[in-house]
Amino acid sequence: MRIVLLGAPGSGKGTQAQRLIDAHRVPQVSTGDLLRTAVAAESALGLRAKATMEAGKLVDDATMLGIIRERLGAPDAARGFILDGFPRTIPQADGLDALLADLGRPLEAVVLMEVDSGQLFRRLTGRRTCRSCGRVFNVYTAPPSTPPPCGGQCVTPDLFQRRDDGEATIAKRLEVYAAQTRPLVEYYRARGLLRSVDAEGDIDQVTARLEAALKNAGAA
Ligand code: AMP
Repeated sequence: MRIVLLGAPGSGKGTQAQRLIDAHRVPQVSTGDLLRTAVAAESALGLRAKATMEAGKLVDDATMLGIIRERLGAPDAARGFILDGFPRTIPQADGLDALLADLGRPLEAVVLMEVDSGQLFRRLTGRRTCRSCGRVFNVYTAPPSTPPPCGGQCVTPDLFQRRDDGEATIAKRLEVYAAQTRPLVEYYRARGLLRSVDAEGDIDQVTARLEAALKNAGAA
C-alpha cells in the first residue's frame, strides 16, 4: 500500500492512518509528527521549524523533501507507507513524484478526506493526544471511552492539546490549507489518482468508506 491521505487539518487523516497501519502493516508517515519529535528533541531541524509551526505556517519545501526522502528510505517503508500531512504544496508533490519514480514505487492512490469546513474548527479545538501512547481523541466527537483517558491503553495516560491547536493558529492553518494544499486535489485528479471519501460522522464508518475506496483503487 502506497497512498497519500489528503485533507484539511482536522479531517481525520491521522486517526484513520492509525487504523490503516494496524490493518495493512505499513507505517504511517506523518510529517507533522516527525517535526513535533524534532521540536521536542530540540534538534537543529526542530529549532528551525518551531516558530513556523506555532504560527500555523508551512515549513519550507526543501526541508520537507529532505525529511521525506530519509523517511521513505528506511527499511520499514519498503513494504509501503501511508503519507499523512505530506505533500502539502505542488512543489512537494512534484518532489515526491520524482523520489518515488527513482525508487520504482509510484503512488497507488490519493484519498481526499472531505469534511464540511464548519466542522473542522470544532474538531481541531477538541483534539487531544495521549502523551503516553500517541493516540488522538476528541473531547466533543470521540472522547476516550473509559478511564484512564486513553481508553485503557496506557498505564499513565496524560492527554494534552497540541500547541498549534489554539484558535488563532487553527484559523491560519485552515487558510494555508485552502491556499497551498487544496490545489493538490486537481493535481492528483488530473493524474487519475484521486479518490474522495466522506470523512464526516462515525469513525468506524469513515474507516469502512476509506477501505472501500482503497480497494476500488487497487491499493488495498
Ligand atoms: P500536521 O500535524 O500535519 O497538522 O502538521 C503540523 C504543522 O507541521 C503544520 O501546520 C506545518 O507547520 C508543519 N508541517 C507538517 N507537514 C508539513 C509539510 N508537508 N509541509 C510543510 N509544513 C508541514
